[in-house]
Amino acid sequence: MVQSSYSPTIKKTKRRTVRQRLSQSNPDELLDRIFRKELLSAVRGSAILYIISALGYFLIRGASTFFLPFSYPRGDIQTVLGALIVASSVYAVVIYLVTRSRQSSGLVVNFYLLGLLGLAEGGFLAVWGAACFLSAGYWTRQHRGSRRMKCTLENGDIVAFGDQRLVCTTCSKLVKIGRDLPRSWTYAGVGLVIAGASTYFLDLIVPTLSSLLYTGVNTPLLLVLDGVVLLFDLLLSQMGLSGGGYVRLPSEVTPQ
Ligand SMILES: [Zn+2]
Repeated sequence: MVQSSYSPTIKKTKRRTVRQRLSQSNPDELLDRIFRKELLSAVRGSAILYIISALGYFLIRGASTFFLPFSYPRGDIQTVLGALIVASSVYAVVIYLVTRSRQSSGLVVNFYLLGLLGLAEGGFLAVWGAACFLSAGYWTRQHRGSRRMKCTLENGDIVAFGDQRLVCTTCSKLVKIGRDLPRSWTYAGVGLVIAGASTYFLDLIVPTLSSLLYTGVNTPLLLVLDGVVLLFDLLLSQMGLSGGGYVRLPSEVTPQ
């Protein structure tokens, strides 16, 4: 009597466990579910970074104008930068809300745009968030475009690992939406560092450029910071440190 009243629950639990274990029964749906969850958490993280970065900027700006009224740069550029920072934080929050309600391929361009805004703002947190938005754009384009995701290391297929994670079937690296970036973007990182260093030395040779490069924003430093953060992010991702590392796959997932 007692056993029969429990058995439906046990059966249900068993069925769920079997369904989880045999995720191959509907791999596309499972993959999509994990992708949505990962994307949402990546976008939420980036939006939070943009907001903290904006608060930090206004805090530092307020403190500097109060304590060092003559040394802090003022003028139109600072007003534009402030407006840009506020606008990108609001934009990030709006895109987060859109991502939460409806995930479509139309988000890709918004993620890339938000990434570029973060790179233009500078500041470690904003640039870190920007790299996350760029990664979100990269993976959303792959997933929404072709329904296939390929590993950034050797183009292996990305499949669901359990019901929480995504993994590459070739190198068994856990993929993290929002942190993993394609290896080719190393060129962009190196390019930014070189551009920053060149503008710095160019300014030493041609002093008249100073008014252009250092009005309100330290352009060489901004470019170098963007490049260094991108490269650091790529390094962590290639080493498997940002995504949760490598796993040992069960034999049925590994291609023969
Ligand atoms: Zn791989």
